[in-house]
Amino acid sequence: MGKSGGVSTVVFFKEEEQLSEALTYFDLKDFKDKKTLVKLHMGEMRNRYYVKPDFVKKVVNEFKKIGSHPFLFDTTVAYNSPRKTKNGYLRVAKLHGFSEHKIGCPIIIGDKGVVQVVEGRSFEVAEEVFKTPHLVAVSHVKGHVQAGFGGAIKNFGMGGVTKESKKMIHKGCEPVYNEKNCTLCGECEKACPFHAIKVKDRWYWNTKACLGCGRCVNACPTDALKFRDADL
Ligand code: SF4
Ligand code: SF4
Repeated sequence: MGKSGGVSTVVFFKEEEQLSEALTYFDLKDFKDKKTLVKLHMGEMRNRYYVKPDFVKKVVNEFKKIGSHPFLFDTTVAYNSPRKTKNGYLRVAKLHGFSEHKIGCPIIIGDKGVVQVVEGRSFEVAEEVFKTPHLVAVSHVKGHVQAGFGGAIKNFGMGGVTKESKKMIHKGCEPVYNEKNCTLCGECEKACPFHAIKVKDRWYWNTKACLGCGRCVNACPTDALKFRDADL
């Protein structure tokens, strides 16, 4: 998608072979001789939910054809995973087929940020995202408990900030418990992927284990759980 004079250009295509033609609808002259940051998720260990390297390579080749210098980029994650460190993420990326040798461009994982203040809140934007004016999002389709769909905006909004900012953004999705509405049904415990909730004689919540994914809030049938800060 591109934007010119306040109007967005949106091109739909079904076959990978149409990528080249689809890109002709955009004015990419300014990408020539510049670095292009291609933002994507290169996959969590043991899952298959990422755009496959063969297609990403095609995207990279299109930008090389116009004389740009693309590199693949993602940031380290806040939760326990090999992707929590730069080297760990690079290992997972390589396992999934994202290596400089296979894709034909550098693979960079960011871990440092530049502080930016937005509406009174400060966020650390990944240095590479901050410094590279030419950005491309390659996003896989995924559901999202609050937004319904996570795509290009999430790719940069959450994936383009540091671990500290990710934690801060997720904090807004931590549950706030209202005992009066709770029937101790245990649905929130079942929904929590990080085992942060236990429902026995009462409701227990381990704040340290909670990563603010918001699933418990969505699972609660009686509105006993609400998001701490729905605006974040
Ligand atoms: S899902 Fe809601 S009602 Fe059920 S135990 Fe959890 S907080 Fe209580
Ligand atoms: S927000 Fe996510 S991690 Fe935290 S308690 Fe709820 S389901 Fe578990």
